[in-house]
Amino acid sequence: MTKHVSNVYTQAAHLVAKSASGCTVTTVDGVEYLDFTSGIAVTNAGHCHPRIVQAIKDQAEHMLHGQIYLIRTPVLEELASRLNDVTPAGIDTFFFSNSGSEAVEAGVKLARQATARPNVIVFSGSFHGRSAMTMAMTTSKTVYRAGYQPLPSGIFVARFPNTFESGRSEADEVQVCLDDMRRLFLQQTAPSETAAVVIEPVLGEGGYVPAPAAFLEGLRTLCDEHGIMLIFDEVQTGFGRTGRFFALEQTNAIPDILVMAKGMGSGLPIGAIGASEALMDRWPKGSHGGTYCGNPIACASALATINVLEDERLIDNARERGVQLTAALRALQERHSELADVRGPGLMVGCEFVTAEGGHDAARVTDIVTHCRHDGKLLLMPCGPHGCVIRWMPPLMVSAEEIDKGVAAFERALDTHPPSTQGSARA
Ligand code: PMP
Repeated sequence: MTKHVSNVYTQAAHLVAKSASGCTVTTVDGVEYLDFTSGIAVTNAGHCHPRIVQAIKDQAEHMLHGQIYLIRTPVLEELASRLNDVTPAGIDTFFFSNSGSEAVEAGVKLARQATARPNVIVFSGSFHGRSAMTMAMTTSKTVYRAGYQPLPSGIFVARFPNTFESGRSEADEVQVCLDDMRRLFLQQTAPSETAAVVIEPVLGEGGYVPAPAAFLEGLRTLCDEHGIMLIFDEVQTGFGRTGRFFALEQTNAIPDILVMAKGMGSGLPIGAIGASEALMDRWPKGSHGGTYCGNPIACASALATINVLEDERLIDNARERGVQLTAALRALQERHSELADVRGPGLMVGCEFVTAEGGHDAARVTDIVTHCRHDGKLLLMPCGPHGCVIRWMPPLMVSAEEIDKGVAAFERALDTHPPSTQGSARA
């Protein structure tokens, strides 16, 4: 392992991959892993899908880069038009970026220009990125912010509904959180100075917690009352991950600005925001942009990804395999009550662990994830502020047999590692 790579990256393992295909990653030593992390919800069509690889190769033969100041490529035009097909009516105009953070930041910049207001509301536990602005918007863990203060100001944090944590009914939790938002308007950021409310429809890094549809719809109503832009960060939930093209399809709430990245490019760096043409037109020309925005290779990959997801019905598969996965994990709860919660739509499934005393069991999550990797050759990742949630995010083309294989490896790890007796107390 060369010493010339920065140590700043968090690395749970040092697997050196030679190749990858579908759900399988093969190391240079010839060991095959069942990858249920998808490069953190990116390779939704499976690693190295042949049609996506071919589209990238074909585009590379024609043009690697053209800057939008002078040059637009057919693949950029076609991608924008296909994104119009897969997003709700009213979201029809797209700005391209190179990553999720940049896309979130673009959404905030658009909202500020369009409303001429400064402030932004985010939710406790959210992850929106690592640029200065998106770091300030990220509250899933202090490690992302510590050492970088002072961060940009004007960010206010509201409560994200979490019935597992609060023990309340869904209806009560929605009410409490909407009331909390109203209090924020009274006490911290007046609606007249609030440009945007930004939310992940399913909290990703923050613990795989789905927001109830009624909450997202309540936010829509509040934003409409006050002329605030509602922004959905679908960087992790988008491109079929939740069993719908976008998670917003499970609600009646349509955001003003939709943010996407990760699964969009199947591994090539691309992100985007979508909004109505009327809203995009309120973004002053030249007030945002970037050298690589709409890079043709990344656009070719994104375009092929949309076509593969549709032609191969991978989003239907995500729903079906998601039902299979959650049923199998819930069956395990009967023997393992410390597997306290199994939640999440489609193939965005979180398993939360508690200790024998009901505290957060991060130590066991680490043991299980490590055991799965070493003994089961299964790649899984933790998430959540306490590190006590295991997230399942296999490629959407995963087969029923691969789900069974993954769950069997997980079950062996559960049996090998009993619950910790000492964990941090649950708030
Ligand atoms: N938003 C969400 C919901 C994310 O999950 C992430 C990445 N984990 C980001 C934004 C930032 O994306 P990127 O790492 O591509 O900048």
